[in-house]
Amino acid sequence: MTIPSLPAEPVSRLIEELNKLPGIGPKSAQRLTYFLVRMPEKEARALAEAILAVKEKIILCSTCYNITDSDPCPVCRGEGRDRTKVCVVEEPLDILSIERTREYQGLYHVLHGVISPMDGIGPDNLKIKELLQKLKNGGVEEVILATNPNLEGEATAMYLHRLIAPLGIKVTRLARGLPYGADLEYADEATLTRALQGRQEI
Ligand SMILES: [Zn+2]
Repeated sequence: MTIPSLPAEPVSRLIEELNKLPGIGPKSAQRLTYFLVRMPEKEARALAEAILAVKEKIILCSTCYNITDSDPCPVCRGEGRDRTKVCVVEEPLDILSIERTREYQGLYHVLHGVISPMDGIGPDNLKIKELLQKLKNGGVEEVILATNPNLEGEATAMYLHRLIAPLGIKVTRLARGLPYGADLEYADEATLTRALQGRQEI
């Protein structure tokens, strides 16, 4: 009798795919896979279809680079938004965090990352050229740098400040109070509201 030492091919394939996701190590990938194996087919189909729908229908807003299913995105289209302010964030999820505070009425610009030489990510890998072009087109009076309060986030903010300040635009940074090393995404609303209200010119 041979004892199978490896899971069936479809199972190992799913483990391998899940293992590629951020924050999912081999153990979690296995646990999720066996959970999915036991999941009713209807639910598994809904999950697979949701993943495909994201790939088929989601695009980047050509103005702010937020993820959206319509271009321009609802924020850029929104009436009553203050078009003299642009809040620069690392990831689309940061927009959701800031919108939840209801403290900010301006527009956004998503960098899609931060400068991180260790990971081989330089300014050219981010939406920085696009930001500068937007600012040079005029109309923006304040840029709020809302990158995360960690090493890469601070370095990216300083880099952007050097590029934007000569354009004569006010550059502000979220106030301290956000825990250093924390992600905006996980900041609670009260803390984020205080950080927005207390933003300071740099
Ligand atoms: Zn947009």
